[in-house]
Amino acid sequence: MASFFRSNVDAMAPYVPGEQAPPGTKIIKLNTNENPYPPSSQAMSVLQNIDSEYLRRYPDPYANEFRQAVSDVLGVPRDWIIVGNGSDEILNVLIRACSEGVRKIVYPMPTYVLYRTLGAMQPTETIEVSYGEDFKLPIEELVAANGAVTLIASPNSPDGHAVPIDDLRCLASRLEGVLAIDEAYVDFAEESALALLNEFDNVISLRTLSKGYSLAGLRLGFGIANPKILSGLFKVKDSYNIDAIACAVGEKAMRDQFYKNECCQKVKLNRTKLALSLQKLDFKVWESQANFLFVQPPNAKAEALYLELKQHGILVRYFKQPGLDDKLRITVGTDEQNQTLTDTLSNILYNCL
Ligand code: PMP
Repeated sequence: MASFFRSNVDAMAPYVPGEQAPPGTKIIKLNTNENPYPPSSQAMSVLQNIDSEYLRRYPDPYANEFRQAVSDVLGVPRDWIIVGNGSDEILNVLIRACSEGVRKIVYPMPTYVLYRTLGAMQPTETIEVSYGEDFKLPIEELVAANGAVTLIASPNSPDGHAVPIDDLRCLASRLEGVLAIDEAYVDFAEESALALLNEFDNVISLRTLSKGYSLAGLRLGFGIANPKILSGLFKVKDSYNIDAIACAVGEKAMRDQFYKNECCQKVKLNRTKLALSLQKLDFKVWESQANFLFVQPPNAKAEALYLELKQHGILVRYFKQPGLDDKLRITVGTDEQNQTLTDTLSNILYNCL
């Protein structure tokens, strides 16, 4: 036997996560779209009061305490909700449950790079349809690709555009397979695609507590869809995929909508201010409904700028891929972090490069 692995595992590229910076270091981390504000204090207080019985026993396999909070807050039935170890896990479960042979995975590019990794592991083809310069949803090409799962991130990463609901509606009505709308950044957007779940039985919305709720380290996400879709996903997920602490902390964070909305409001305000400051430095800035900005620095200096910023203790995301290699994705930070970023950029552009 030449290899330990299946041929498509041998052939695939590994997923490369954003660079890490240990908490407590002085690095300004604007590369993985974390929320710059702390999680809800009501959620954090759960950690002081965890009963040891909570950890001695296996957790609830369905995370019902958390599901109930989602149900109460979003007004969807509890049995329309599946909880995952981050929304990444729900993506993984969905793709594993649906794909094989002619049952393909389809998505427009550029988008969240994990879709390619998850697709590459499956015994099926992954079809990548190009978005084009204007980021208009390529509906005809997506329909023609006829995926068992079609993945659309809205707002999309890396550029931050939100796909118009009417385009998603049109796509849902024309697809036979599942349309997964990845709404990881919905808390910073103007509208959500939730209404489509009542109109179509092939739509799932994927959400996370990593962004709007400042809980990326907790690993908690969820999917909302009718039980016709969820029944298959429940068969495929790990038995105890949500630990007891994540379930309890997540429940309180979900119920503290006031705090979450306040943080997201601040991020949205900072996003507008940061976009203006970058435009003043001659950056092209894409319209974003997420907690990051996709930008093209003046004179195609993206890689050099990324490296210089790193030298100055600021991490942003640079994608070394054709089409993205002259651009950067910058997470919106606090006012103070954004000010340091723009001061440093101005200094580098006018003195170093
Ligand atoms: N979807 C998109 C578009 C993302 O950018 C991310 C975060 N990297 C995720 C999903 C995954 O989020 P989670 O932390 O819930 O796994």
